[in-house]
Amino acid sequence: MPEGPEVQRSADLLDDALAGHTIRTFEARTTAAREWLAEHEGAFEGKRVERVWAHGKHLVGQVEGDLFFHSHYLMWGRWHVVAPDAEEVVTKDRRERARIVTDDAAALLYSAPKFDVGQGDPYAGIPALSRLGPDVLDEPFDADAFLGRLDQEPDRTVGAALLDQTVAAGIGNYLRAEILYACRMDPWRLVGELDGAERGCLAETVPRLSQMAYAQSGRTVPEAVQAKMAADRDLRYSPHAHAWNTRHWVFRRTNLPCLTCDDYVRQEHQLTREWVDDESGETVEKKRIIYFCPTCQPVSVEPKPARPHKDRRPPDSEWASPDDERDPEDR
Ligand SMILES: [Zn+2]
Repeated sequence: MPEGPEVQRSADLLDDALAGHTIRTFEARTTAAREWLAEHEGAFEGKRVERVWAHGKHLVGQVEGDLFFHSHYLMWGRWHVVAPDAEEVVTKDRRERARIVTDDAAALLYSAPKFDVGQGDPYAGIPALSRLGPDVLDEPFDADAFLGRLDQEPDRTVGAALLDQTVAAGIGNYLRAEILYACRMDPWRLVGELDGAERGCLAETVPRLSQMAYAQSGRTVPEAVQAKMAADRDLRYSPHAHAWNTRHWVFRRTNLPCLTCDDYVRQEHQLTREWVDDESGETVEKKRIIYFCPTCQPVSVEPKPARPHKDRRPPDSEWASPDDERDPEDR
């Protein structure tokens, strides 16, 4: 699932292609956007796109006349930019959710279930946007706002809090595992128990690793560490030294050697959200896989024994668990 750095790259792509250009056609297939466009026919056509930006995992476009569009990928969405007369523009794809065409480019949104349009301040019109915490890619990152929002639920684990988009916007499952590893932090540690040094580490590492992932197409290790993994078959799963196999310190590296100590990376399910279902009255638990090194991170759970990978190829489920990708953390 795309996290803040990936959505920022999409926003860059759209901003480069659309900003300053006049919209020739504007179409949408999501119900909310279709209804709005039916009531405001031709609202976007002939208007200039002012800018496109990302806030966490949300993408927002501002259009002349106080108009806006907003998308959220959830699991599978993706914006593409092509020439306005490209094959994709001529033959409509059933996965298409929106298309914005100018004289110079066409931006096509595929598969994303969330696409809205409106007029006025998008932060007032879209509740999910108004609740977002500081963007992890903001320069400078608003560490005070981040820590203040973190403190609002002191009884929550830090592993759960980092996924909450109202605490910091843009962290998903790979960034949270990498941030906690970088801070040598127990994912099950309660937010209210964090000391000053731990809070300082989070405030520094959240923006640093997010910026690194943005600059390196999602990679959270420096180039030298990528090269080390590419050169040593025992440090990665794939028999091939593909770049995607050498991207992270712990994320999806279960049972591979830690890159810092002699132990092995482990995975556990961690409770990240809990709520009472309105209809059934039952408590619903949402869990995500957390990856960690039990030696580098003083975990308060008993980790499963490591099963060193070496030349054994493990079941796919260990490093590409469908559970890990299916449900977005979106609120
Ligand atoms: Zn370690």
